[in-house]
Amino acid sequence: MAYKFVDNYREKGARKQLVNNLEKRGIADKRVLQAIGKVPRHFFFDETFWNQAYRDIAFPIGDGQTISQPYTVAYQSELLHVSKGDKVLEIGTGSGYQTCILLELGAQVFTIERQESLYQRTIQVLPYMGYQPHFFLGDGSKGIPEHAPYDKIIVTAGAPFVPELMLKQLRYGGLLVIPVGDEKSQKMVTILRVGENDFERIELDTFRFVPLVGDQAW
Ligand code: SAM
Repeated sequence: MAYKFVDNYREKGARKQLVNNLEKRGIADKRVLQAIGKVPRHFFFDETFWNQAYRDIAFPIGDGQTISQPYTVAYQSELLHVSKGDKVLEIGTGSGYQTCILLELGAQVFTIERQESLYQRTIQVLPYMGYQPHFFLGDGSKGIPEHAPYDKIIVTAGAPFVPELMLKQLRYGGLLVIPVGDEKSQKMVTILRVGENDFERIELDTFRFVPLVGDQAW
């Protein structure tokens, strides 16, 4: 497939402005801001919509799904506290934009998407952009047990509850970031695994994600 990816002054300037706006909204982690400043978000849009790519909004990417709002991506990335070399499971690849941010933060990323068309697109576009996560197609609500344990797990779709199977795939000291609620709104939840059956849960701000659909989900 032939891609036409250019990153001109207009896009670079808009990206810088987006980073400034995210900082003003309270994103403080400089590494996260740098990653947002680096990944060309317009590459995930059809060229017709490049003028929308650096607005702080979610945007349709086909099949009823969205590329997450930059603020949401920054917020979840900040909560994950990614260290270089962390093994991160991402559930809901979507466009792959969040995946690129995690890779820029130095993570080794295992990412799973349930919709084949999105999966097919990301396995071509991300390597073309120079990003190399481990891609999986399937129901991520059960995690990916074959590759567990993970240092971090990030869920980018709204879950009705925290799947037990995901918790079991965290290493001790590992962290899960997951939006939990009903179809209309979810609370961002972080869960730290402190022992075999010991977890510390914190509930944070309200968001609205597309639903996590699967065996351990809607
Ligand atoms: N962070 C992504 C981005 O920036 O493009 C946005 C992800 S989108 C909000 C949520 C994604 O989760 C959708 O692509 C959806 O198909 C996927 N999804 C929903 N349920 C899933 C499941 N059980 N396993 C894997 N992916 C799932």
